[in-house]
Amino acid sequence: MSNKDFYLHFVKELIKFSPRLGKNEQKTAKFLEAYLKEQGIPFIVEKFHTSYPKNIKTCLVVDDKEIDCRPTSFVDGKITRKSKVINSLLDYEGGANINFNPKSDDLSLAQHYHFPSLAINKKDLVQLMSGEEIEGSIDVERTGFLSKNILVGNKNNPQYLVFAHYDCLETGATDNASGVSTMMGVIINHQELLENCLFIFSGNEEISYDRPQYWGRGFRILEKRHPRLFKEAERILVIDCVGNGETKLSTDEEFVSECFPIKNIKKFRKKILVACADLKKLYEIYHSAGDTVDQLSESHLEQAARVVVKFLKNR
Ligand SMILES: [Zn+2]
Repeated sequence: MSNKDFYLHFVKELIKFSPRLGKNEQKTAKFLEAYLKEQGIPFIVEKFHTSYPKNIKTCLVVDDKEIDCRPTSFVDGKITRKSKVINSLLDYEGGANINFNPKSDDLSLAQHYHFPSLAINKKDLVQLMSGEEIEGSIDVERTGFLSKNILVGNKNNPQYLVFAHYDCLETGATDNASGVSTMMGVIINHQELLENCLFIFSGNEEISYDRPQYWGRGFRILEKRHPRLFKEAERILVIDCVGNGETKLSTDEEFVSECFPIKNIKKFRKKILVACADLKKLYEIYHSAGDTVDQLSESHLEQAARVVVKFLKNR
């Protein structure tokens, strides 16, 4: 891989495996391992079991016309006229639903639910709302696979832990090929950081059968296996969704808890930061086929890497 436009090139390589779930997540991990090997950078791999809901057959028919939809639930079931139509960017506690992302022009899998649920494109709302008969069904299968966390750097007494998840729903250029590419560039260009930092390419962030939070399983597995690393690290940096604007480091406790739902979040959240860029832009393509490389720029990815390096070098 050439050095010019490294970051965008690396994102393009990663999204070839999308959606990076199950077998595709495993292929992505293999690609990362091969790349590290090629660069002569040592790493260790920690495997763990997980599972995700795989779409078998999900459909939605309104007055005999089929509407484009995708399952967003862990369970099978039926959708009828009585099912709620909800905004997938807001919290929701109810039952069976049809959801849409009001900020997105694409079909967005913003959230998953523990009751029958499917997502539609907001452009199909009028057709749905004016329909007389609504018939939908969700058929998903719990599908297990071996996921991996890939650890690079100081595994004994790192001052900093740095995370970037490499799995994704749909295309996942911003979320989070951008963060993986940034972290890879930082590792390769600043190998002196491996002395003080432990970098973790985390698997299975997006979706698992864990409760109460179905996301972040890869983070929690590492926390469970290495409680001392979490306790003793000075700071923990999570790189998630950069390169689509100016990257900043957020310490907002609510945001940090959403992005990094580890078990002991209350204990550790004061030392956790999230590197992220334009959230408004993110929600327009969130967990959708619209999250392509067009969202990103080389200069913004380079800037993200500079922010990360500056932070890790304490400057
Ligand atoms: Zn993410």
